[in-house]
Amino acid sequence: MFDALAERLESAWKTLRGQDKISQSNIQDALREVRRALLEGDVNLQVVKNFIADVEAKAQGAEVISGVRPDQQFIKIVYDELVQVMGETNVPIASADKPPTIVLMAGLQGTGKTTATAKLALYLRKQNRSTLLVATDIYRPAAIDQLVTLGKQIDVPVFELGTDANPVEIARQGVAQAKADGVDTVIIDTAGRLQIDQDMMAELAKIKQTVQPHETLLVVDAMTGQEAANLTRTFHEQIGITGAILTKLDGDSRGGAALSVRQISGQPIKFVGVGEKVEALQPFYPDRMASRILG
Ligand code: GDP
Repeated sequence: MFDALAERLESAWKTLRGQDKISQSNIQDALREVRRALLEGDVNLQVVKNFIADVEAKAQGAEVISGVRPDQQFIKIVYDELVQVMGETNVPIASADKPPTIVLMAGLQGTGKTTATAKLALYLRKQNRSTLLVATDIYRPAAIDQLVTLGKQIDVPVFELGTDANPVEIARQGVAQAKADGVDTVIIDTAGRLQIDQDMMAELAKIKQTVQPHETLLVVDAMTGQEAANLTRTFHEQIGITGAILTKLDGDSRGGAALSVRQISGQPIKFVGVGEKVEALQPFYPDRMASRILG
């Protein structure tokens, strides 16, 4: 577990041997190593600063535990703080008392939003939850086709009204259809742009206001590291998210975006995408991610 950081901390402490307890000077050396590890792990700079300040306060207040090496004690403080900031445990997806549960998917184009919509449907099926997918991205005909194709592949119905209808109206009718069909969960795929765009945000806000979803999930590409923080801030301020899906964790990213998303929005990562296939979706576990981020 996070061997790289553990090694670095050990060497930082070696220069201070003889001081075998946590002290002001070795805390600063150790914090520098943690800061470096987090930045290499793709965590946003501001998020790192806040995190380090919290760890510093905890380390300074820590009681010396006899028989425990200070570097090990320190690393435990860092690890525990990471896990705590990311929410301790997995937070499952909402399940409405009165179906259908309405899930709104939000995010930029190319992050894996449409794929995640299908992945989520397959995941819910394994929990005996039926789904209806709704295609509202009228700006790219290929996006509707992609969702229809994925729906066929996993044998889940897709509601669409082509590219001439209004996205808000498609979402509204999609939810009505899910109710009429007695479907457990309706997942609404929305239009993404390459960058944050006010028209896109306004449309998402309108869809949200109209269908009143139980979940608004922001899809975040783990490979975007630092940028994930700005993205989360904007979506959370303008739309209000209830959670996130972190995609492309099968890539070589250390996943620091997970810490940024959680610290900035206060909302949990609920799932991670670990591949292009529809099966490649897993619940998010803060402890596993903490180890990965620390490297
Ligand atoms: P959208 O524009 O946000 O709807 O993105 P898509 O769902 O079309 O996905 C964009 C690309 O990312 C596609 O090539 C997907 O196969 C790929 N993709 C999506 N999720 C993952 C993932 O978890 N891992 C990997 N490696 N690729 C993914």
